[in-house]
Amino acid sequence: MADQEESVAMETGRAEPDLFGRWNHVRKLLERSGPFAHPDFEPSPEILDFMLNSCRILVVGAGGLGCEILKDLALMGFRQIDVIDMDTVDLSNLNRQFLFRLKDVGKPKANVAADFVNQRIPGCNVTPHFKKIQDYDETFYRQFHIVINGLDSIVARRWMNSMMLSLLNYEDGVVDPSSIVPMIDGGTEAFKGNARVILPGMTACIECTLELYPPQINFPMCTIAHTPRLPEHCIEYVKILLWPQEEPFGKDVAIDGDDPTHIQWIFEKAQERADQFNIMGVTYRLTQGVVKHIIPAVASTNATIAAQCVTEAFKIASSCCGPLNNYMVFNDTDGLYTYTFEAEKKEDCVACSQVPQVLTLPEDATLQNLIDHLTESASLQMKAPGITTVVNGKNKTLYMQNPEAIRVRTKENLPKKLKELGLEEKQELIVADITAPNALIFSLSYK
Ligand SMILES: [Zn+2]
Repeated sequence: MADQEESVAMETGRAEPDLFGRWNHVRKLLERSGPFAHPDFEPSPEILDFMLNSCRILVVGAGGLGCEILKDLALMGFRQIDVIDMDTVDLSNLNRQFLFRLKDVGKPKANVAADFVNQRIPGCNVTPHFKKIQDYDETFYRQFHIVINGLDSIVARRWMNSMMLSLLNYEDGVVDPSSIVPMIDGGTEAFKGNARVILPGMTACIECTLELYPPQINFPMCTIAHTPRLPEHCIEYVKILLWPQEEPFGKDVAIDGDDPTHIQWIFEKAQERADQFNIMGVTYRLTQGVVKHIIPAVASTNATIAAQCVTEAFKIASSCCGPLNNYMVFNDTDGLYTYTFEAEKKEDCVACSQVPQVLTLPEDATLQNLIDHLTESASLQMKAPGITTVVNGKNKTLYMQNPEAIRVRTKENLPKKLKELGLEEKQELIVADITAPNALIFSLSYK
C-alpha cells in the first residue's frame, strides 16, 4: 500500500508524498467492485489518480453550503477545485461558515475559503474567483468535469442552469454526450433541503421543475390590515401600510433593511400594533427578519445537503455507483423525512427542450399583458424581461427595463396592443432576462 501511495504522490510531481494510507477510505470504493457499482465500473487505481490530478470541479457559492462542499470535496480526494462567489465575509456568517474567522470579515469569501482549504489539506489546489457568475462566459464553465451549486438564490441557480445547457452540442437533434457537464444542485432553507443531479439535455433541468419553487409567502392583505394574529402580521402592517402613509424618513424614501433607524421605527410601530391586538413576540430581530425576508440558516441542514452533493460528485467522477436519480428532498423540521424521486424532463421546457417555444395570447393582448405572462406564468417566472423583435427587416426594441433611457423610450409601448405594434402571428420574439445568460426565442400565437 505504501508504495502505491507514494507512486501517486510522485506522479503528481508534488514535493510532499501523501501520508501513509491517506486515501485508503476512498480506495476501498475505487479499487474493488461491489453490488452497488455502476454496470460499467471497472475498479482501478487510475480512478483515484484521475480524481486527485485531473478531475476539475467548480463550486458555485462559498457560503453556508459552499464551505461544507469545499471541505467534503477536499477530504474525498478532489484537488483541482475552483470556487466562485461575489460576496465578502460578514460577521453573521461565522456561526456556520466555518472556513471564516473574525479576522476575515470584509474579505472575499472565495479567497478566504480557498486559502483555508489549501492550507489545511496538503496537495489541495482550490482556485478562488471573487466574481459574479455572470462575469464569465462559456469558455470558463466548459473547463470543468462537474459543477456543484451551493447557492441561495433561485435566479442564480436558473442562470447557471441555462449556462450549462448552452454548452451542449446537438447533432441531428441528439445531444453530444461529450458536451454534457453534470450539474449537482444543493439548496437549503432552515430545516429543509434538497439535492439533485442534472445531466443537462438528458434529465430534468431547473426550468423543467420551476413550478416546484413556491412563490414567496405573503400574508393576505385583509389579515394584515384588520385581523392580525402573528407578530409578522404587525410588522407587515407597518411595512406595507404605515410606512408609505407616514413617510417617517421623508417623501418617497424606501425602506432600507440595513439601516438600523428604519428597522427601529418599524419595530416600535409594530410593537404598538401588537399591543393593541394582544400579540406577543415582536422583536427587533424578527422585524429585521421580516423586512429583509431572512430565512434562518441551519448549519446541520447545510452539512447534510453538501455531503449528498459531494457524494454525487464522487459517484459521477468515479462511476463507482450510479448517481442519484435525480431529486432528493430532506426535511427535519419534525422528525426526519427524506424522499427521492425522478423529476421528469418537460417536453416543452423553455430552457432544455429543442422544440420552438410558443407564446399564446388573446388577439387583443397588449405588450403589458405579454410581459405579465412572462413574469407571472408558473413555468416562466421571469424577473425583468426585455423584448425585441424584427419588424419589416429592422430590429425593434419593444420594451426593456435597463438602461433607464431605453425604459423611458419604450414604456409607451406597454399599453399598446401587440397587433398595433406590428406583431403578427408567428412573430419571433427575442426575450432577455436575468434568469438566463442567453436570450430565449418565442413564436407569438393569437388565440
Ligand atoms: Zn428543462
